[in-house]
Amino acid sequence: MKYEQLPQQDPEITDLVRQEIKRQQDGLVMIPSENHASVAVLEAMATVLSNKYAEGYPHKRYYTGNQYVDQVEQLAIDRAKALFKADHANVQPNAGSGANIAIYLATLKPGDKVMGMKLDQGGHLTHGHPVNLSGQLYNFVQYGVRQDTEIIDMNEIRDMAKKEKPKMIVTGATAYPRIFDFKAWKEIADEVGALLLADISHFVGLCISGDHPAPFPYADFVMTTTHKTLRGPRSAIILTQQEHAKAIDKAVFPGTQGGPLEHVIAAKAVCFAEAAKPEFINYAQQIVKNAKALAETLTDEGIRLVSGGTDIHLMLIDCNPLKISGRTGSNVLAEGGIYTNRNTIPYDPGSAFEPTGIRLGTPAITTRGMKEDQMKIIGTIIAKVLKNSTNEEIKKELNDTVTELANQFPLYPEMTI
Ligand SMILES: *Cc1c(COP(=O)(O)O)cnc(C)c1O
Repeated sequence: MKYEQLPQQDPEITDLVRQEIKRQQDGLVMIPSENHASVAVLEAMATVLSNKYAEGYPHKRYYTGNQYVDQVEQLAIDRAKALFKADHANVQPNAGSGANIAIYLATLKPGDKVMGMKLDQGGHLTHGHPVNLSGQLYNFVQYGVRQDTEIIDMNEIRDMAKKEKPKMIVTGATAYPRIFDFKAWKEIADEVGALLLADISHFVGLCISGDHPAPFPYADFVMTTTHKTLRGPRSAIILTQQEHAKAIDKAVFPGTQGGPLEHVIAAKAVCFAEAAKPEFINYAQQIVKNAKALAETLTDEGIRLVSGGTDIHLMLIDCNPLKISGRTGSNVLAEGGIYTNRNTIPYDPGSAFEPTGIRLGTPAITTRGMKEDQMKIIGTIIAKVLKNSTNEEIKKELNDTVTELANQFPLYPEMTI
Protein backbone atom coordinates (compact mmCIF):
# COMPACT_ATOMS: atom_id res chain seq x y z
CA MET A 1 0.00 0.00 0.00
CA LYS A 2 1.56 3.23 -1.16
CA TYR A 3 0.30 6.68 -0.26
CA GLU A 4 0.96 9.29 -2.94
CA GLN A 5 -1.16 12.44 -2.67
CA LEU A 6 -1.48 12.70 1.08
CA PRO A 7 2.24 13.15 1.83
CA GLN A 8 2.41 16.12 -0.56
CA GLN A 9 -0.82 17.75 0.46
CA ASP A 10 -0.84 17.34 4.19
CA PRO A 11 2.53 16.77 5.83
CA GLU A 12 1.09 17.16 9.33
CA ILE A 13 -1.44 14.34 9.01
CA THR A 14 1.08 12.28 7.02
CA ASP A 15 3.62 12.53 9.78
CA LEU A 16 1.10 11.36 12.39
CA VAL A 17 -0.04 8.45 10.22
CA ARG A 18 3.60 7.52 9.67
CA GLN A 19 4.26 7.52 13.40
CA GLU A 20 1.16 5.43 14.05
CA ILE A 21 2.20 2.85 11.44
CA LYS A 22 5.58 2.68 13.17
CA ARG A 23 4.00 2.39 16.63
CA GLN A 24 1.96 -0.61 15.46
CA GLN A 25 4.95 -2.15 13.67
CA ASP A 26 7.40 -1.70 16.54
CA GLY A 27 5.11 -2.69 19.41
CA LEU A 28 2.93 -5.67 20.32
CA VAL A 29 -0.79 -4.89 20.30
CA MET A 30 -2.35 -7.01 23.04
CA ILE A 31 -5.53 -5.00 23.59
CA PRO A 32 -7.98 -7.81 22.86
CA SER A 33 -10.45 -5.60 20.96
CA GLU A 34 -7.79 -4.49 18.48
CA ASN A 35 -6.34 -6.20 15.43
CA HIS A 36 -4.42 -5.47 12.23
CA ALA A 37 -6.74 -5.54 9.20
CA SER A 38 -5.31 -6.73 5.88
CA VAL A 39 -4.06 -4.22 3.32
CA ALA A 40 -6.99 -5.27 1.08
CA VAL A 41 -9.45 -4.26 3.83
CA LEU A 42 -7.65 -0.92 4.29
CA GLU A 43 -7.59 -0.29 0.53
CA ALA A 44 -11.34 -0.93 0.22
CA MET A 45 -11.93 1.89 2.72
CA ALA A 46 -9.78 4.33 0.76
CA THR A 47 -12.14 4.40 -2.26
CA VAL A 48 -14.63 6.75 -3.93
CA LEU A 49 -17.45 4.66 -2.47
CA SER A 50 -17.11 7.13 0.40
CA ASN A 51 -18.50 9.87 -1.85
CA LYS A 52 -21.86 8.24 -2.46
CA TYR A 53 -25.07 8.95 -0.55
CA ALA A 54 -27.08 5.72 -0.41
CA GLU A 55 -29.79 6.19 2.20
CA GLY A 56 -32.05 3.16 2.11
CA TYR A 57 -31.16 -0.40 1.09
CA PRO A 58 -30.03 -2.04 -2.19
CA HIS A 59 -32.58 -1.28 -4.93
CA LYS A 60 -34.62 0.80 -2.48
CA ARG A 61 -32.62 4.04 -2.29
CA TYR A 62 -33.66 7.64 -2.01
CA TYR A 63 -31.06 9.03 -4.43
CA THR A 64 -30.02 8.06 -7.97
CA GLY A 65 -26.69 6.59 -9.08
CA ASN A 66 -26.60 3.59 -6.81
CA GLN A 67 -26.04 0.85 -9.41
CA TYR A 68 -22.56 0.02 -8.09
CA VAL A 69 -22.95 0.63 -4.36
CA ASP A 70 -26.09 -1.54 -4.50
CA GLN A 71 -23.92 -4.41 -5.72
CA VAL A 72 -21.26 -3.69 -3.12
CA GLU A 73 -23.78 -3.75 -0.30
CA GLN A 74 -25.56 -6.84 -1.67
CA LEU A 75 -22.24 -8.70 -1.83
CA ALA A 76 -21.56 -7.76 1.78
CA ILE A 77 -25.04 -8.95 2.80
CA ASP A 78 -24.75 -12.26 0.93
CA ARG A 79 -21.30 -12.96 2.31
CA ALA A 80 -22.36 -12.13 5.88
CA LYS A 81 -25.41 -14.40 5.65
CA ALA A 82 -23.32 -17.28 4.32
CA LEU A 83 -20.54 -16.79 6.86
CA PHE A 84 -22.86 -16.76 9.88
CA LYS A 85 -25.64 -19.00 8.50
CA ALA A 86 -28.09 -16.16 9.12
CA ASP A 87 -31.49 -15.52 7.52
CA HIS A 88 -30.90 -11.79 7.31
CA ALA A 89 -27.98 -9.38 7.54
CA ASN A 90 -27.92 -5.62 7.95
CA VAL A 91 -24.39 -4.46 7.11
CA GLN A 92 -24.96 -0.74 7.63
CA PRO A 93 -24.27 -0.14 11.35
CA ASN A 94 -21.30 2.18 11.73
CA ALA A 95 -20.27 0.77 15.10
CA GLY A 96 -21.24 -1.82 17.68
CA SER A 97 -22.75 0.66 20.12
CA GLY A 98 -25.19 2.10 17.59
CA ALA A 99 -26.03 -1.40 16.36
CA ASN A 100 -27.08 -2.46 19.85
CA ILE A 101 -29.21 0.66 20.23
CA ALA A 102 -30.87 -0.13 16.87
CA ILE A 103 -31.69 -3.65 18.08
CA TYR A 104 -33.30 -2.22 21.23
CA LEU A 105 -35.23 0.34 19.18
CA ALA A 106 -36.50 -2.44 16.89
CA THR A 107 -37.84 -4.58 19.71
CA LEU A 108 -38.36 -2.66 22.94
CA LYS A 109 -40.35 0.25 24.25
CA PRO A 110 -38.77 2.74 26.65
CA GLY A 111 -39.02 1.32 30.16
CA ASP A 112 -39.10 -2.34 29.05
CA LYS A 113 -37.13 -4.72 31.22
CA VAL A 114 -33.90 -6.18 29.82
CA MET A 115 -31.19 -8.37 31.36
CA GLY A 116 -27.56 -7.57 30.56
CA MET A 117 -24.13 -8.17 32.06
CA LYS A 118 -22.65 -5.65 34.48
CA LEU A 119 -19.93 -3.47 32.98
CA ASP A 120 -17.55 -3.99 35.89
CA GLN A 121 -17.80 -7.78 35.54
CA GLY A 122 -17.24 -7.92 31.80
CA GLY A 123 -20.36 -6.51 30.09
CA HIS A 124 -20.43 -3.63 27.61
CA LEU A 125 -21.65 -0.06 28.24
CA THR A 126 -24.52 -0.70 25.81
CA HIS A 127 -25.68 -3.64 27.93
CA GLY A 128 -27.49 -1.33 30.32
CA HIS A 129 -24.93 0.86 32.08
CA PRO A 130 -26.56 3.98 33.55
CA VAL A 131 -24.23 6.38 31.68
CA ASN A 132 -25.28 4.84 28.36
CA LEU A 133 -28.52 5.47 26.48
CA SER A 134 -29.37 1.77 26.96
CA GLY A 135 -29.41 2.14 30.74
CA GLN A 136 -31.36 5.39 30.63
CA LEU A 137 -34.05 4.37 28.16
CA TYR A 138 -34.68 0.79 29.29
CA ASN A 139 -35.10 -0.88 32.63
CA PHE A 140 -31.95 -3.01 32.72
CA VAL A 141 -31.37 -5.56 35.46
CA GLN A 142 -27.77 -6.68 35.56
CA TYR A 143 -26.20 -10.08 36.04
CA GLY A 144 -22.59 -10.87 36.84
CA VAL A 145 -20.26 -13.69 37.78
CA ARG A 146 -20.09 -15.73 40.98
CA GLN A 147 -17.59 -14.29 43.41
CA ASP A 148 -15.97 -17.66 44.16
CA THR A 149 -15.52 -18.90 40.58
CA GLU A 150 -15.62 -15.60 38.68
CA ILE A 151 -17.73 -17.45 36.10
CA ILE A 152 -21.40 -16.93 35.15
CA ASP A 153 -23.63 -19.41 37.00
CA MET A 154 -26.51 -20.45 34.73
CA ASN A 155 -28.65 -21.40 37.74
CA GLU A 156 -28.37 -17.84 39.04
CA ILE A 157 -29.25 -16.57 35.56
CA ARG A 158 -32.34 -18.78 35.41
CA ASP A 159 -33.49 -17.61 38.87
CA MET A 160 -32.99 -13.99 37.92
CA ALA A 161 -34.81 -14.38 34.59
CA LYS A 162 -37.75 -16.09 36.30
CA LYS A 163 -37.97 -13.38 38.92
CA GLU A 164 -37.50 -10.40 36.58
CA LYS A 165 -39.28 -11.70 33.45
CA PRO A 166 -37.28 -9.50 31.02
CA LYS A 167 -38.46 -8.85 27.49
CA MET A 168 -34.91 -9.41 26.24
CA ILE A 169 -31.75 -11.09 27.52
CA VAL A 170 -28.44 -9.67 26.30
CA THR A 171 -25.48 -12.06 26.21
CA GLY A 172 -21.87 -11.49 25.22
CA ALA A 173 -19.22 -9.37 26.89
CA THR A 174 -16.07 -7.36 26.43
CA ALA A 175 -14.03 -8.52 29.40
CA TYR A 176 -15.13 -12.06 30.25
CA PRO A 177 -12.58 -14.81 29.54
CA ARG A 178 -15.04 -17.70 29.34
CA ILE A 179 -17.69 -18.81 26.82
CA PHE A 180 -21.40 -18.13 26.43
CA ASP A 181 -23.32 -21.37 25.91
CA PHE A 182 -26.07 -19.91 23.70
CA LYS A 183 -28.14 -23.12 23.78
CA ALA A 184 -28.43 -22.86 27.58
CA TRP A 185 -29.24 -19.14 27.35
CA LYS A 186 -31.93 -19.85 24.76
CA GLU A 187 -33.58 -22.41 27.06
CA ILE A 188 -33.81 -19.80 29.81
CA ALA A 189 -35.04 -17.12 27.38
CA ASP A 190 -37.74 -19.49 26.15
CA GLU A 191 -38.76 -20.38 29.71
CA VAL A 192 -39.53 -16.73 30.47
CA GLY A 193 -40.61 -15.64 26.98
CA ALA A 194 -37.65 -13.32 26.39
CA LEU A 195 -35.87 -12.48 23.15
CA LEU A 196 -32.18 -13.42 23.02
CA LEU A 197 -29.47 -11.04 21.79
CA ALA A 198 -26.01 -12.50 21.26
CA ASP A 199 -23.44 -9.70 21.17
CA ILE A 200 -20.49 -11.66 19.80
CA SER A 201 -18.38 -8.54 19.07
CA HIS A 202 -15.32 -9.83 20.86
CA PHE A 203 -15.20 -13.54 20.07
CA VAL A 204 -16.85 -13.51 16.62
CA GLY A 205 -13.78 -15.02 14.94
CA LEU A 206 -13.92 -17.90 17.40
CA CYS A 207 -17.58 -18.54 16.54
CA ILE A 208 -16.46 -18.98 12.92
CA SER A 209 -13.67 -21.43 13.80
CA GLY A 210 -15.81 -23.38 16.27
CA ASP A 211 -13.69 -22.41 19.28
CA HIS A 212 -16.72 -20.62 20.76
CA PRO A 213 -20.34 -21.82 20.38
CA ALA A 214 -22.09 -20.24 17.37
CA PRO A 215 -25.07 -17.99 18.19
CA PHE A 216 -27.43 -19.39 15.52
CA PRO A 217 -29.90 -21.09 15.61
CA TYR A 218 -30.41 -19.97 19.23
CA ALA A 219 -30.25 -16.17 19.16
CA ASP A 220 -33.02 -13.95 17.79
CA PHE A 221 -30.47 -11.22 17.13
CA VAL A 222 -26.72 -11.31 16.67
CA MET A 223 -24.61 -8.18 16.76
CA THR A 224 -20.94 -8.16 16.02
CA THR A 225 -18.29 -5.57 15.47
CA THR A 226 -16.09 -6.29 12.46
CA HIS A 227 -12.77 -4.87 13.68
CA LYS A 228 -11.97 -7.18 16.61
CA THR A 229 -11.32 -10.92 16.08
CA LEU A 230 -13.02 -10.68 12.66
CA ARG A 231 -10.08 -8.47 11.54
CA GLY A 232 -12.08 -6.19 9.25
CA PRO A 233 -12.76 -2.44 9.20
CA ARG A 234 -13.91 -0.53 12.32
CA SER A 235 -17.65 -1.18 12.06
CA ALA A 236 -20.47 -3.60 12.90
CA ILE A 237 -23.32 -5.72 11.50
CA ILE A 238 -26.62 -7.12 12.76
CA LEU A 239 -27.80 -10.63 11.87
CA THR A 240 -31.33 -11.83 12.58
CA GLN A 241 -33.87 -14.53 12.12
CA GLN A 242 -36.19 -13.65 9.18
CA GLU A 243 -39.12 -12.56 11.34
CA HIS A 244 -37.11 -9.61 12.74
CA ALA A 245 -35.56 -8.52 9.43
CA LYS A 246 -37.91 -5.65 8.65
CA ALA A 247 -37.89 -4.19 12.15
CA ILE A 248 -34.09 -4.23 12.26
CA ASP A 249 -33.68 -2.58 8.86
CA LYS A 250 -36.08 0.18 9.89
CA ALA A 251 -34.30 0.69 13.21
CA VAL A 252 -30.88 1.08 11.54
CA PHE A 253 -32.17 3.42 8.81
CA PRO A 254 -34.03 5.70 9.34
CA GLY A 255 -34.22 4.80 13.06
CA THR A 256 -30.68 5.55 14.18
CA GLN A 257 -28.48 6.32 11.15
CA GLY A 258 -28.44 8.34 7.95
CA GLY A 259 -26.41 7.54 4.85
CA PRO A 260 -24.41 4.29 5.11
CA LEU A 261 -20.61 4.25 4.81
CA GLU A 262 -20.42 2.27 1.57
CA HIS A 263 -16.60 2.30 1.55
CA VAL A 264 -16.63 0.63 4.95
CA ILE A 265 -19.34 -1.76 3.78
CA ALA A 266 -17.01 -2.70 0.89
CA ALA A 267 -14.23 -3.35 3.41
CA LYS A 268 -16.65 -5.50 5.44
CA ALA A 269 -17.39 -7.54 2.28
CA VAL A 270 -13.64 -8.03 1.83
CA CYS A 271 -13.22 -9.17 5.42
CA PHE A 272 -16.18 -11.61 5.19
CA ALA A 273 -14.54 -13.20 2.14
CA GLU A 274 -11.26 -13.45 4.07
CA ALA A 275 -13.04 -14.99 7.06
CA ALA A 276 -14.67 -17.63 4.81
CA LYS A 277 -11.25 -19.02 3.85
CA PRO A 278 -9.72 -22.05 5.59
CA GLU A 279 -6.74 -19.86 6.57
CA PHE A 280 -9.03 -17.83 8.80
CA ILE A 281 -10.10 -20.94 10.72
CA ASN A 282 -6.42 -21.71 11.33
CA TYR A 283 -5.91 -18.11 12.43
CA ALA A 284 -8.80 -18.13 14.91
CA GLN A 285 -7.75 -21.50 16.33
CA GLN A 286 -4.23 -20.17 16.80
CA ILE A 287 -5.61 -17.13 18.68
CA VAL A 288 -7.05 -19.50 21.28
CA LYS A 289 -3.98 -21.74 21.41
CA ASN A 290 -1.88 -18.64 21.93
CA ALA A 291 -4.19 -17.26 24.63
CA LYS A 292 -4.04 -20.57 26.51
CA ALA A 293 -0.24 -20.71 26.22
CA LEU A 294 0.02 -17.12 27.43
CA ALA A 295 -2.36 -17.74 30.34
CA GLU A 296 -0.41 -20.82 31.34
CA THR A 297 2.91 -18.96 31.28
CA LEU A 298 1.53 -16.07 33.32
CA THR A 299 0.01 -18.47 35.86
CA ASP A 300 3.26 -20.44 36.10
CA GLU A 301 5.01 -17.15 36.82
CA GLY A 302 2.68 -16.56 39.77
CA ILE A 303 0.26 -14.08 38.16
CA ARG A 304 -3.40 -14.50 39.19
CA LEU A 305 -5.82 -14.53 36.26
CA VAL A 306 -9.54 -13.87 36.77
CA SER A 307 -11.41 -17.21 36.77
CA GLY A 308 -8.05 -18.98 36.66
CA GLY A 309 -7.43 -18.67 32.93
CA THR A 310 -9.23 -18.38 29.61
CA ASP A 311 -11.31 -20.30 27.07
CA ILE A 312 -11.11 -17.61 24.40
CA HIS A 313 -8.81 -14.86 23.14
CA LEU A 314 -8.50 -12.65 26.22
CA MET A 315 -7.60 -12.78 29.89
CA LEU A 316 -7.65 -10.49 32.92
CA ILE A 317 -4.71 -10.06 35.27
CA ASP A 318 -5.56 -9.34 38.90
CA CYS A 319 -3.08 -6.64 39.98
CA ASN A 320 -4.04 -6.82 43.67
CA PRO A 321 -1.42 -9.40 44.65
CA LEU A 322 1.17 -7.44 42.65
CA LYS A 323 0.52 -4.34 44.75
CA ILE A 324 0.17 -2.12 41.67
CA SER A 325 -2.84 -0.54 39.99
CA GLY A 326 -4.12 -1.57 36.57
CA ARG A 327 -3.04 1.85 35.34
CA THR A 328 0.54 1.44 36.53
CA GLY A 329 0.78 -2.07 35.12
CA SER A 330 -0.60 -1.23 31.68
CA ASN A 331 1.46 1.98 31.51
CA VAL A 332 4.74 0.23 32.31
CA LEU A 333 4.00 -2.39 29.66
CA ALA A 334 3.09 0.29 27.11
CA GLU A 335 6.35 2.16 27.76
CA GLY A 336 8.11 -1.03 26.67
CA GLY A 337 5.87 -1.47 23.62
CA ILE A 338 3.28 -3.98 24.87
CA TYR A 339 -0.19 -2.44 24.59
CA THR A 340 -2.87 -3.72 27.00
CA ASN A 341 -5.64 -1.87 28.83
CA ARG A 342 -6.50 -1.32 32.47
CA ASN A 343 -9.83 -2.91 33.27
CA THR A 344 -12.11 -3.66 36.19
CA ILE A 345 -12.12 -7.21 37.49
CA PRO A 346 -15.16 -8.82 39.16
CA TYR A 347 -15.81 -7.34 42.62
CA ASP A 348 -13.02 -4.84 41.94
CA PRO A 349 -11.88 -2.99 45.04
CA GLY A 350 -10.94 -0.04 42.77
CA SER A 351 -13.13 2.00 40.42
CA ALA A 352 -13.87 2.08 36.69
CA PHE A 353 -11.31 4.85 36.31
CA GLU A 354 -8.75 3.26 38.65
CA PRO A 355 -9.39 -0.46 38.30
CA THR A 356 -7.19 -3.27 39.58
CA GLY A 357 -7.09 -5.37 36.44
CA ILE A 358 -5.24 -5.52 33.14
CA ARG A 359 -7.02 -6.94 30.09
CA LEU A 360 -4.92 -8.50 27.37
CA GLY A 361 -5.31 -10.92 24.49
CA THR A 362 -3.81 -12.51 21.43
CA PRO A 363 -5.79 -11.57 18.24
CA ALA A 364 -3.35 -8.95 16.91
CA ILE A 365 -0.08 -10.72 17.74
CA THR A 366 -1.52 -13.91 16.19
CA THR A 367 -2.19 -11.91 13.00
CA ARG A 368 1.56 -11.23 12.92
CA GLY A 369 2.19 -14.99 12.89
CA MET A 370 3.26 -15.50 16.49
CA LYS A 371 2.72 -18.92 18.07
CA GLU A 372 3.02 -20.68 21.43
CA ASP A 373 6.82 -20.26 21.62
CA GLN A 374 6.47 -16.49 21.40
CA MET A 375 3.66 -16.55 24.00
CA LYS A 376 6.09 -18.09 26.49
CA ILE A 377 8.57 -15.30 25.85
CA ILE A 378 5.87 -12.61 26.09
CA GLY A 379 4.22 -14.10 29.19
CA THR A 380 7.55 -14.40 30.97
CA ILE A 381 8.55 -10.79 30.34
CA ILE A 382 5.07 -9.43 31.22
CA ALA A 383 5.17 -11.25 34.57
CA LYS A 384 8.69 -10.02 35.25
CA VAL A 385 7.77 -6.41 34.50
CA LEU A 386 4.58 -6.45 36.57
CA LYS A 387 6.41 -7.95 39.55
CA ASN A 388 9.21 -5.35 39.24
CA SER A 389 7.44 -2.31 37.85
CA THR A 390 10.10 0.18 38.93
CA ASN A 391 13.16 -1.82 37.89
CA GLU A 392 14.90 -0.02 35.00
CA GLU A 393 16.95 -3.02 33.92
CA ILE A 394 13.84 -5.14 33.53
CA LYS A 395 12.15 -2.34 31.58
CA LYS A 396 15.13 -2.38 29.22
CA GLU A 397 14.77 -6.14 28.88
CA LEU A 398 11.11 -5.64 27.97
CA ASN A 399 12.08 -3.13 25.30
CA ASP A 400 14.67 -5.45 23.79
CA THR A 401 12.29 -8.43 23.81
CA VAL A 402 9.55 -6.44 22.07
CA THR A 403 11.95 -5.07 19.45
CA GLU A 404 13.28 -8.53 18.67
CA LEU A 405 9.80 -10.04 18.32
CA ALA A 406 8.49 -7.12 16.26
CA ASN A 407 11.43 -7.45 13.86
CA GLN A 408 10.99 -11.20 13.64
CA PHE A 409 7.27 -10.84 12.79
CA PRO A 410 7.02 -7.80 10.49
CA LEU A 411 3.73 -5.97 10.07
CA TYR A 412 2.62 -4.15 6.89
CA PRO A 413 6.07 -4.41 5.24
CA GLU A 414 4.56 -3.12 1.97
CA MET A 415 3.18 0.07 3.52
CA THR A 416 5.01 3.31 2.67
CA ILE A 417 4.05 6.85 3.46
C1 LIG B 1 -16.72 -3.50 21.24
C2 LIG B 1 -18.05 -3.89 21.71
C3 LIG B 1 -19.19 -3.13 21.40
C4 LIG B 1 -19.16 -1.75 20.78
O1 LIG B 1 -18.44 -1.55 19.69
P1 LIG B 1 -18.05 -0.06 19.19
O2 LIG B 1 -17.81 -0.32 17.74
O3 LIG B 1 -16.85 0.33 19.96
O4 LIG B 1 -19.20 0.83 19.42
C5 LIG B 1 -20.41 -3.61 21.80
N1 LIG B 1 -20.52 -4.76 22.49
C6 LIG B 1 -19.46 -5.50 22.82
C7 LIG B 1 -19.64 -6.75 23.59
C8 LIG B 1 -18.18 -5.09 22.45
O5 LIG B 1 -17.12 -5.81 22.81
